[in-house]
Amino acid sequence: MFARVAIPAGTRILDYKGRLITHAQADRLYGDGAESGHTFLFTLNARYIVDANVGGNAARWINHGCDPNCEASILEHPSGDARRDRIVIEALRDIAPGEELTYNYGIVLEVPHTRRLKKLWACRCGARGCAGTLLQSRRRMP
Ligand SMILES: [Zn+2]
Repeated sequence: MFARVAIPAGTRILDYKGRLITHAQADRLYGDGAESGHTFLFTLNARYIVDANVGGNAARWINHGCDPNCEASILEHPSGDARRDRIVIEALRDIAPGEELTYNYGIVLEVPHTRRLKKLWACRCGARGCAGTLLQSRRRMP
């Protein structure tokens, strides 16, 4: 997905939308996801996952990038209702028209990141520091 207009740093660009499913439902519907190399699932919180396969919006087309110009954050609803939390995509820096929007998917699988899985989740973002895979090192702590 590419910017058509200049987007100043800090702009909230759009919400990542889709149906809400529980983690257990996601496992039933899609397995653990490790073998897919591709997902429209986004963990919202401990209870829910946003499934952009159903009712998703343009946010699902934003690619992963190793040197991203956007970031995805979870906005917890003040009511504490886990169903009302939101995922918002915001500009990390000024973005020029024509630039591709990317954010770091931050994917960590529940199985070892073998060479085969890294290849399955290959990154071709083209950034100078491209890690070559979407899978994030477990050693990197938030
Ligand atoms: Zn990359």
